[in-house]
Amino acid sequence: NPPFDVNIIRQDFPILKERVNGKQLVWLDNAATTQKPKQVIDRISYFYEHENSNIHRAAHELAARATDAYEGARKKVQNFLNAASVNEIVFVRGATEAINLVAKSWGEQNLQAGDEIIVSHLEHHANIVPWQQLASKKNLKIRVIPVDDDGQLIIEEYTKLLGPKTKLVSFTQVSNALGTVTPAEQIVRLGHLAGAKVLVDGAQSVSHMPVDVQALDADWFVFSGHKVFAPTGIGVLYGKEDLLNETQPWQGGGNMIVDVTFEHTQYHNAPARFEAGTGNIADAVGLGAAIDYVSRIGMEKISTYEHYLLIYATQLLKEVPGLRLIGTAANKASVLSFVLEGYKTEEVGHELNKQGIAVRSGHHCAQPILRRFGVESTVRPSLAFYNTCAEVDLLVETLHRLKK
Ligand code: PMP
Repeated sequence: NPPFDVNIIRQDFPILKERVNGKQLVWLDNAATTQKPKQVIDRISYFYEHENSNIHRAAHELAARATDAYEGARKKVQNFLNAASVNEIVFVRGATEAINLVAKSWGEQNLQAGDEIIVSHLEHHANIVPWQQLASKKNLKIRVIPVDDDGQLIIEEYTKLLGPKTKLVSFTQVSNALGTVTPAEQIVRLGHLAGAKVLVDGAQSVSHMPVDVQALDADWFVFSGHKVFAPTGIGVLYGKEDLLNETQPWQGGGNMIVDVTFEHTQYHNAPARFEAGTGNIADAVGLGAAIDYVSRIGMEKISTYEHYLLIYATQLLKEVPGLRLIGTAANKASVLSFVLEGYKTEEVGHELNKQGIAVRSGHHCAQPILRRFGVESTVRPSLAFYNTCAEVDLLVETLHRLKK
C-alpha cells in the first residue's frame, strides 16, 4: 500500500498540469530543482500582500509581521533539522553560498599551510571549488575519498586518509550525480575521532529523507530551499552554536552588528553575525511553508514512497537494451543516471523532451565522479514524491522506442 495518495498530492502542484510539446509535463529533473506546491506560492503572495517590510529595524506593525514571519521560518528550519537551537540556523542564498561562507570565514581563520581537507569523489563542484580556492591561497592539501564500482564511498580508504593534518572533512549525504546515500554518521564520527571538523552537504538529502543534525553530529550542514519545494535564492547553513559564535563573519554590513564606531565594530552572535544586509525575507517565509508542507506528509512516508519508485524505475531501466546505469550502490535516493548506447546524452534528453519528459543530461556539476566511471555526461532522471509509476513507465517506453 502506498503511504499516501499521490494523485491528491499532485493537485497541490499547479505546474504539473502544464503541457509541453503538446504532452502532459513529466517533471523528472528534481535533483536540479523541485516544483512548488500552491501552499508555498500562496504563502509568498500573502507575505507581499499583508506583511512586507524590512525586518528588525523599524518599530511599526508590518516590520513586526515580517520579522515574525522570517523568524518563524527559522524556527521551522530548526525543527525540520532537529537543531538544538534556533541560533544555529543561518539563512543564506543556497548550499553553494553556505559552503563558501564556511570556507571564507572558518577556513580562512583556522587553516594553515600543510593542513589537509578531505572531500569525496562524489562531490558537487560547490563542495570542491571553494576548498580548492582556499587551498591554493593557503597552501592546503585536498585529499579525496574514493568510490567503489557501485559509486559508494570506500570507508577503509577514508580511514587511511585521516590523520593529524586533517582539519576538515566535507562530503555529501546524497550524490546528485549517482544518487548514492553515503554512510554520513560514520564518516562524521571518524572525522571527529581524527580531530577534524566535518561539513555535510545536504542539498540532495533533505528532500528525500528525515535529517537529524544532532544525530548526525556534523559541525555544519547545508542545503538549498529550491531543492525542497521552496523558492530559489534561499538556503540554510546549520552550524553548532559555539562554533558559529567563535567564527568571525565573512561579510560586514547592517543587521549583523551590536555597535559600530569608526574605530571598531562589535558583532552579534549567530545567526545575525552571518546575515549582513537585507536577506531574502519572503523566500525564507516560503521555505518555512515548504517545510510545513513536507512535514505534514511526513519525511518518513516520502522516503518510503520514493524508495519504492526508485526500485521500480531501476528494474525497468535495466531492461532497456544498451542502457548502462551508473551508480548502483545498495543505498540510493531519487537519482537514476545512465548512458544509452548509440546516443549522445543530449539526444536522449531532446527525445524525452519531445514527449514532455524533463530530465537533465550533462555533467550535473559533478565532473570528477562521472569521469571516475569513464563518461563526461549522463542522462539523469530524478524523482520526487509527486512522481508516479505511470510517469516512470512513460520514460521507459520512450527509451525502448528510441532503441528500436
Ligand atoms: N551540492 C549538491 C549535492 C547539489 O546537488 C547542489 C545543486 N545541484 C549543490 C550542492 C549546490 O546547490 P545550489 O546550486 O542550490 O547552491
